[in-house]
Amino acid sequence: MSTNQHSSHDELIFLEELEKSDPQVKSEGTLTWRIMIIDDDPDVHSATTFALSSLAIQNRALSFLHAYSAVQAKEILKNETDIAVILLDVVMEQEDAGLQLVNTIRNEMGLSEVRIILRTGQPGYAPEIDAIRDFDINDYKTKSELTRTKLFTTITSAIRSYDQICSINTLRRASDITTRSSRELISQTNINEFSAIAIRSIIEYFESPDINILLFKQDDPNGSLNIIAANGQFAHAINSPLKNPENAIILQTIENCLSQQQNILDSNHAALYLSNTTQTRYALYVGVNRPISTQDERFLDVYSSNVSVCLDNVLLNIRLRNHAFTDPLTNLPNRLKLLHMLDQILAQKNRPQTTLALIDIDHFAETNNALGHQFGDLLLCAVAERLRHHFEHSCKLARIGSDTFSIVGHNDIVRPEIILSLFYAPFLIEKQDVQLSATIGLVKLDDYVGDTSDALKDTNIALKRAKKQQRTGYVYFTNNMGVEIRERVRLMRALNSAFQKNHLFVVYQPQVHIGTGKPVGAEALLRWKTTDGKFIPPDQFIPIAEYSGLIIELGDWVLRNACYELQSLLKKGYTNFKMSVNVSQAQFLHPEFLNSVRRAINDTGIPPELLDLEITESMAMEDPIFLMETLHQLKKIGVKISIDDFGTGFSSLSYLQKLPIDQLKIDRSFVNQIVDETSSASIPKMIIQLCQGLGLTVIAEGVEELKQAQALMTFGCALAQGYYYSKPLESAKLFEWLGTNA
Ligand code: C2E
Ligand code: CA
Ligand code: CA
Repeated sequence: MSTNQHSSHDELIFLEELEKSDPQVKSEGTLTWRIMIIDDDPDVHSATTFALSSLAIQNRALSFLHAYSAVQAKEILKNETDIAVILLDVVMEQEDAGLQLVNTIRNEMGLSEVRIILRTGQPGYAPEIDAIRDFDINDYKTKSELTRTKLFTTITSAIRSYDQICSINTLRRASDITTRSSRELISQTNINEFSAIAIRSIIEYFESPDINILLFKQDDPNGSLNIIAANGQFAHAINSPLKNPENAIILQTIENCLSQQQNILDSNHAALYLSNTTQTRYALYVGVNRPISTQDERFLDVYSSNVSVCLDNVLLNIRLRNHAFTDPLTNLPNRLKLLHMLDQILAQKNRPQTTLALIDIDHFAETNNALGHQFGDLLLCAVAERLRHHFEHSCKLARIGSDTFSIVGHNDIVRPEIILSLFYAPFLIEKQDVQLSATIGLVKLDDYVGDTSDALKDTNIALKRAKKQQRTGYVYFTNNMGVEIRERVRLMRALNSAFQKNHLFVVYQPQVHIGTGKPVGAEALLRWKTTDGKFIPPDQFIPIAEYSGLIIELGDWVLRNACYELQSLLKKGYTNFKMSVNVSQAQFLHPEFLNSVRRAINDTGIPPELLDLEITESMAMEDPIFLMETLHQLKKIGVKISIDDFGTGFSSLSYLQKLPIDQLKIDRSFVNQIVDETSSASIPKMIIQLCQGLGLTVIAEGVEELKQAQALMTFGCALAQGYYYSKPLESAKLFEWLGTNA
């Protein structure tokens, strides 16, 4: 087509075309192919638009953009998108302005999809073949070559190839987005995060940050629709219903999508059905601000089935997670969940007033044993239900141990009196009224110093205290308790190391015949002298040794020391000298205890009847069958047995009568009350009479004055031990003392 052949009709079209803003969408809803004409000759513009005006490719008409210089073209290209074809004049302001512009388009502006057809007036300006290839130029034609038909075919094939390139690029992008999002989605454990990623990917695909996207959830087929994630103008609609009548279309589309269980793709919106294996149905509404193309449809289809697979996985993850954080019996959160919760609370800088309470059901183990596990389970569920009923909405509940529940909440709500009052009414289990009580340990978390595991430990300390004191039923943790416990732990470590380093030793307190003042034996007593020369009294460290289990080793060590001491005294001629050794409950109960006694006797070769083991009255009352059995075994070995601190426990006398014991030791506290023979001293007198009746020997401990000794003798007690005669002495000192007193 020659450039000067245009008519006045062409002119009109030309003007018409120029005046239009020339959007990609010509009339509402229809897409056009955008053609850009760059030529310094206005005639070429009008001729071209005229020639192509009737052309439609794949039912899409053409629309035109016009530039009259390379500079102007660059400006337009900066702002316009989706240009399918550029018809470009090679020679404009400069001889190679067209080729320069191609370089800019491809390399600087990075526009790779647009097809470029070079046109030149003179054949001599043909660019190098290399340039055509390098710049991805579709075609090169002299203007005279481009007849109307030629222009038709050239433009048609350029548009086809543009369309293919776009399709491929879109598909590649869609597949990139789908793959990338799948990778992120599949590992989610939280539905909110999941929704955010799903929405982000759609935004990325449509390249439109405020596109309307809504994620709906429906718990059962007739249930209400809940919005659980949203974008665009609905961003604030989460968890609230869509009421506006304008949104009726959205709701209708989603309802159709959910009832048909398939995607619904309309001209400018879509409802994607996210199938999954749970009861709950999910659908994603995507309102696009342009017509949905076939490529978009492909993307949405593939994308929704990918999201579905991931959603299934996430829901499974969530279920597994819930499972890991839930107590299966009561359906309450479990210990792990409580720990997480406490972590979160304690991580806050300005913590609200929060109390952690541990609630322990009293005597649950006994009930469980007596009435069976099934009954026990029902009981626990009933307790859980009652706690839930009162605290579910205001606090966080958990079951953290077999019969231990926890409540975390505001100080005013988590109050021990309130919790205890929940146990006043009986629990109805299998048509029986069961009366329960509970004990509570509490810790205030507002200004708590320490981490989660400390907090839980400290609450447990408070709970143990509460159990022990049995009065109010609850105890708040105080820092003092912590200090005490830490002091105990410190002492425990120190005791261990003192024992390893031989800083412990045994002293011996003589026991005498009151009448003659002659020694009859001694009691072995353990001593601990710290490196800085301080004595720690056994009343303090023996309980710790018992608590930590060290008493087993320690007790054995004392026993062996005492036996060696006895052996050496026997060798020195103190025949018939007796050695008393204290045995703690933990030692007595230990399966190796009898062997330990046998070994000490065998290794030292002492006559067993000279060894006297002191057990306390409270131990004697603990487990009658076991006690009787052990005592009989000890008697077989041949040792003597005394009951220490007698009178402080609550022995049943008929029971005492049956025990194979040899001696009672009147506790120091009763001896203390004796001033002289005229003292009433009813308890010592009674113990002495009891011994006479049962044929046991009796010894008084803690005798500090002669008058006490004399009184005891007149009451009928022949033996005594106390400061009046001697304090406990180290081995060498004992030998000395015996030298002057024997
Ligand atoms: P215990 O068995 O009742 O020992 C008698 C305690 O009374 C000893 O205190 C002794 O020093 C003290 N004592 C003796 N005569 C008098 C007196 O006239 N006046 C006063 N005020 N006190 C007197 P110690 O040695 O401090 O021992 C305290 C407790 O520690 C013992 O009470 C015993 O229960 C335990 N213990 C000591 N050594 C051992 C041991 O080797 N093994 C075990 N399991 N417990 C031990
Ligand atoms: Ca004793
Ligand atoms: Ca005693």
